[in-house]
Amino acid sequence: MKLNRKLKMGMVGGGPGAFIGEVHRKASSLDHGIDLVAGAFDINPKKSKQMGRELLLEPRRVYGTYQQMIEGERKLAPGRRIDFVAITTPNNWHFPIAKAFLEAGFHVMCEKPMTINVKEAKELQKLVKKSRLVFGLMHNYTGYPMVKLARDMVRKGELGKIRKIVVQYPQGWLATALEKTGQMQAAWRTDPKQSGGAGSMGDIGTHAENLSEYITGLKITQLCADLTIFVKGRRLDDDGNVLLRFNNGARGVLHASQVSIGEENNLAIWIYGEDKGLEWHQEHPNYLYVKFPNAPEQVWKRGNPYIAAKSAAAARATRLPSGHPEAFFEAFANNYLNFADTVRAKITGKKPSPLALDFPNVDDGLRGMLFIETVLASTKSKQKWTKFKK
Ligand code: NAD
Repeated sequence: MKLNRKLKMGMVGGGPGAFIGEVHRKASSLDHGIDLVAGAFDINPKKSKQMGRELLLEPRRVYGTYQQMIEGERKLAPGRRIDFVAITTPNNWHFPIAKAFLEAGFHVMCEKPMTINVKEAKELQKLVKKSRLVFGLMHNYTGYPMVKLARDMVRKGELGKIRKIVVQYPQGWLATALEKTGQMQAAWRTDPKQSGGAGSMGDIGTHAENLSEYITGLKITQLCADLTIFVKGRRLDDDGNVLLRFNNGARGVLHASQVSIGEENNLAIWIYGEDKGLEWHQEHPNYLYVKFPNAPEQVWKRGNPYIAAKSAAAARATRLPSGHPEAFFEAFANNYLNFADTVRAKITGKKPSPLALDFPNVDDGLRGMLFIETVLASTKSKQKWTKFKK
């Protein structure tokens, strides 16, 4: 049986002036399969109502708090109530909100990092497994077609055994004490209570960690980290450099920074196998560079038939012909596309296809939290290598 209606989405966070909630709203609607019907959009109930009015939602489905939203939605019949919630609040709220919605029987799409510590992440993982509900984690960089192509090339063994991974995520927007000016995104990100134990390493270092494991299928086993706070008075790292060891013997370097002046979102990855190398840049996401020992470098371009022939996942994640760039919104939409197909399969009692299951989940969220805690432990440690926590 096919589900003959759109999925109904609720949102927590994403109030007036918020960043990522609006990206979720736009991206989730890109494929016409999801309707936003309810929300508790802001920590301030009045602003939540204001957001609901701006979005022209049914007033009684715009709630003051997430608890009221759960209560209100549960009173509605299945099919009318929300099918899932998107959590787009600061990090400290992810765990209590995800837990409450899962316990109430709703599927969850959650922003990263998944929680503010490993303890919460493990509890959430248990809860997801027990509930058999779908849990998506918005590591959006896995949603790019050329990232999926890279992963398929590695999986098919085209690079040979992977030897080296270099991954970076430098930004420059926190090079001064922006948080002291009242800028809302900077304020909570630099507050340990709201952000968790790490600053830039949690905020963007986890994207780099996730991308390296997603493309290569390898797991980090040990690391050596050096976190620094450059801006006076700041309480969380604004720069970090990490050496990595992977479970196949590969070595890596990861750096994440929010004081790299002039950098915007310069996430990039280089992967070198025994036979070939790959290079991908988030700010130029439609291209994948393939490197050979004795031949000129190739530029593979999104949207071409040769990409679809090589990677079904990349083809599924492509909406426009080559030369019409796709980027940030589409990558979010691709995670929503697969998440939504998996939710539909659950609702109709079918098995989701392997392509639909291609979105970051609660296990990836736990890896991210373990990464943060290992990096924090390594920074404090006098030993060179710290084992990746379990
Ligand atoms: P933001 O400060 O712009 O927005 C946060 C919103 O959440 C605000 O509207 C705030 O009022 C609301 N909020 C806070 N507590 C709430 C609660 N208990 N109930 C309801 N609403 C609440 O933050 P942002 O930059 O959009 O980041 C939000 C989350 O998204 C963070 O976890 C961040 O790490 C993540 N993020 C991810 C990406 C990505 O590329 N995947 C990019 C940016 C942010």
